[in-house]
Parts: sequence; structure tokens; C-alpha cells
Amino acid sequence: MFVVVAMTGSLDCDAGETGVDGARILPAPLGTGQGISVPEAQGAAATGAASGSTVGPMWFCDECGASVGHGNVLAGEPPGCLEHGPRWRLIRNAPCAGVVIVKDDRVLLSRRAKPPFEGYWEVPGGFVERGEHPTQAARREVLEELGIDVVLTGLLGIYLESSSGDEPLQVTVYEATTEATEPSPDPTEVSGWAWFTREDLPTEMAGRHRLRLDDWLAGRTVPLPADGL
Ligand SMILES: [Zn+2]
Repeated sequence: MFVVVAMTGSLDCDAGETGVDGARILPAPLGTGQGISVPEAQGAAATGAASGSTVGPMWFCDECGASVGHGNVLAGEPPGCLEHGPRWRLIRNAPCAGVVIVKDDRVLLSRRAKPPFEGYWEVPGGFVERGEHPTQAARREVLEELGIDVVLTGLLGIYLESSSGDEPLQVTVYEATTEATEPSPDPTEVSGWAWFTREDLPTEMAGRHRLRLDDWLAGRTVPLPADGL
């Protein structure tokens, strides 16, 4: 579980999006020679949350809770705790994983049961745990939220987004399929679900989740390596 480090807003990997322009980073379109593209505005450096100033929410040590100031994100310097040293995780992107679940050319989406974006459709997913590979996180989150097993079939992209608390999120999104047809959702996370045809995919979605579907519609999924990672 990622530690919430700011006083304002909640760090919600499922549906974050406020201050940072979300962007799909990888994979680049094949054959264009563009390589990795990074948006101009990205991460905490673009939010004004921390740049060595005292502007923005106060940050605290994720181990002892002591006030640690803001560090200097632009210089790559994390805030420091007198007892526990540099708090690197405070200035890094939070890793997340999401899954576009496809079966018979229909996409399974879930409806959020809690804020932010309560009641909005979303692509299932959540935070990557410490030491966990994003592929593992992707399957685990779907199992936790929808009660079904999925088989990952491709990599759709890596997206830089931000949480409702303006924390930068790095979201690895996979395409997957499943044997299941009827999920058994966790009601604390999911208030509804539906299989959508390409033509009926919702336009109003949590955060920037619609961008993931646009990329899927555009056929941008690339195969996973043979070892699945
Ligand atoms: Zn500390």
C-alpha cells in the first residue's frame, strides 16, 4: 500500500486526474522513430506542489510522521527526516496497474463505488505493491475488485497521470481476457459492471480512463514478452 504523504486530497490510483496532463508514454507508435515521448508538463514538478518552497501541502515522513518539509523536486532532492533520512518515495511517481478486459470484442468496465469519481465508469486497476511486478498487480487488482481471474494478452501503454491529491501516478495498462462472464465485485469498490461494445463505450469516465479505451480502439496493444513480463 502506497503511503499517503500529503495533507490535501487522497491518493487514489483508481481514478486520479486533476492537475497534470495525462499522457500515454509507451509504447511509441511502431515505425515512427519517435521513441519515448514525455509530456511537457508532468509529475510533481508541474503541479507546483514542491520546488524547495514552502508553497503547497506540508509533507510528512512515511515512517514516523515527522514533518519533512518539501525537499526540492526540481533538483531531484527528496525531503529528509532527521531520524529516517531521505524520503525518496515522496518525490517519485506512484506505480499503478490497470486492465482493459476484453471478451468477444466487448470491454468489461466497473463503476466506482467511492470518491473520487464515484459513480463513474473506470478501467479496473490500482496501486502496485512494494516488490510486486505490474503484471501481478494488474491480475490481483481485478481479482480483488471484480472477483475474476484474467489472462494478460498485451501491453496497452504506460500513462503518466495524477491522483485527486495531485500525486503523480505511473500507470501500466494491460489488455487481458477472461473465462468469466459475470463478475462478483467487491461492493466497497465497485457499484456496478457491464460489458460494452466498441460503439457503446462510455465517454464520461473516471480520471483519464477514456484515453486507455481510445488507445485500445486504435489497436495500440503490443504483445507481451514470451515470459509474460
Ligand atoms: Zn521519520
